[in-house]
Amino acid sequence: MKMASGETEYLIPEHYGNKISTVDNEGKRKWIYAFKPKGKFYKYRTWLSWFYMALLFGLPFVKINGKPFLLLNIPKGEFILFGKMFFPQDFIILGIGMVLAIVFVIVFTLLFGRVFCGWVCPQTIFLEMMFRKIEFMIEGPAHVQMKAKKQKIKPKSYYFKKTLKHIIFYLLSFLIAMTFLSYIVGIDVILSAIKEPTKHWIAIIGLLAFATVFYFVYAYVREIACTVICPYGRMQSTLMDKKSMAVAYNYNRGEPRGRKRKGKEDELGDCIDCGMCVNVCPTGIDIRDGLQMECVNCTACIDACDDMMRRVNKPERLITFATEHQLETNTVGEKSLDLRSKLLLTLLIVLTAGFTAFMVTLPVFDSTVLRVPGQLYQEGQDGTISNLYKIKIQSKSPKDLPYSLAVKEENAQIEFVGTKLDSLKSGQLSEEIFFVRFPKGELEQRKTKINIQIKSGDKVIQNKKVTFLNGY
Ligand code: SF4
Ligand code: SF4
Repeated sequence: MKMASGETEYLIPEHYGNKISTVDNEGKRKWIYAFKPKGKFYKYRTWLSWFYMALLFGLPFVKINGKPFLLLNIPKGEFILFGKMFFPQDFIILGIGMVLAIVFVIVFTLLFGRVFCGWVCPQTIFLEMMFRKIEFMIEGPAHVQMKAKKQKIKPKSYYFKKTLKHIIFYLLSFLIAMTFLSYIVGIDVILSAIKEPTKHWIAIIGLLAFATVFYFVYAYVREIACTVICPYGRMQSTLMDKKSMAVAYNYNRGEPRGRKRKGKEDELGDCIDCGMCVNVCPTGIDIRDGLQMECVNCTACIDACDDMMRRVNKPERLITFATEHQLETNTVGEKSLDLRSKLLLTLLIVLTAGFTAFMVTLPVFDSTVLRVPGQLYQEGQDGTISNLYKIKIQSKSPKDLPYSLAVKEENAQIEFVGTKLDSLKSGQLSEEIFFVRFPKGELEQRKTKINIQIKSGDKVIQNKKVTFLNGY
């Protein structure tokens, strides 16, 4: 099959789309021994992954006024985001968040393809930056591992190394399970379970179950999670178009590929067919076959190819970030952000900034104020008109706060029926019933909108408009 692209005709391999890189011709699993990449992108990914891991493992310990910064306690229906508390009745916020997240993912993928998978997804970060590095340390580089596996009679050291590696893998999986569960039940519960396992045996069973799942994912399932199981990966073909950025082989420059021979340099493209881009690929694909769903955009092949290009004195980025449109029009490296991309990028920034601002500025009290049904108005002997109201209020603050009610309009008075609250505990849900009184004649309309102010100290947290009924 040939594909025209600018002046170059690029031969698409016959097997393109017909084979899975991790399955051999007999349908058996082909184990991927990915070589350790070396280069600029790998260095950036390593730094990013250190930051990411510090954040992931450290965040459960971050508390604001004794409450976790982030907690998603689904069994108890208690959620803490950005240090603010949310409850099942706040599902609308969760709904908005989920819709925005879906829009974000669609727009992000349309722009940058599967970059998230290679640079942010915990599956890739943990596998490549933690488990595979430990494997290299214990079993040696990929070619040594391959050779050891092929030995018919394996030495004792082979089994010793394998056992040691799997023990460390399980311990790390246990640590990941602890972190993961601490986002659900809180780090204090997890630490108590570790200290006194007999008292918290249910938590220990949960930890062991999750640790076992993580162990199998990182020790055996590996790239299959990205190439077969992950739904996000399966949706790539629908989320990306010809203008989406992705790691791509610039066939205009590289083809026809081949080992350079003296006197025949001009007949060949820049690809020397060294195969290093395939050797480093954690999903086992050959990026020169074209854009593939299995590519997690980890950029290891860019680093490997750049290294080769430097050795043969050719310009770097034979494998690079490019759109399919750029490849077809032979404009790789030229203006990559067209108007459409700029608009989508702006949308991404607005969505992120808007939702963050929305979350940060959410009031610490959530309340509903209603006139008590069945009551119109009461005329007092002191010459006042009053209406009866009920407030339902919940604190979303991680700390206890002072609380009071006031009416914004002048000459109004508030009189509480029963207990008057002075403060709200963190997460407390309460009700109050109160009269609002005005001197007769103060309000001229039969129905007037008045403002009930919900305060914490001197600060007005919410202003609720309610109807006040007059006698006229
Ligand atoms: S093709 Fe390149 S970017 Fe894609 S997964 Fe393989 S090494 Fe990573
Ligand atoms: S690393 Fe670069 S030069 Fe080597 S085979 Fe891959 S694309 Fe060709």
